[in-house]
Amino acid sequence: MAGEAQDDCLFCKIVAGDVPATVVRETETTVAFRDINPQAPTHVLVIPKAHYPDAASLAAAEPAIAADVLREAGEVAAQEKAESHRIVFNTGTGAGQTVFHTHAHVLGGRGLQWPPG
Ligand code: AMP
Ligand code: ZN
Repeated sequence: MAGEAQDDCLFCKIVAGDVPATVVRETETTVAFRDINPQAPTHVLVIPKAHYPDAASLAAAEPAIAADVLREAGEVAAQEKAESHRIVFNTGTGAGQTVFHTHAHVLGGRGLQWPPG
């Protein structure tokens, strides 16, 4: 069924507590944890607890949870005092997506160039 945990999904395992993560925030519908390979002083991933492969499929199926992810991304930036920050959803392998469970990267704590590579 849509949104159900997938046995082969790393981020579903983090939601379940089967893979450890440094959790910085949690709500009924979301978890935020530090990226294992940080690209900036603040690099936190915000994920829905429900499994959807990318941001658009989450928003189509569960718009309220998509809004929760965005709100939590803003809360993480505030918590980290990263007033200037970037919220990124890589979508598709060509854009660098490697984990196919929706996640917002929250990057901050240094200057960020535009356009990204
Ligand atoms: P993406 O490449 O956009 O799919 O982002 C996946 C992110 O997950 C990468 O930035 C990885 O560094 C990060 N990542 C992979 N495994 C873990 C893990 N076990 N805990 C935290 N972050 C992870
Ligand atoms: Zn998943």
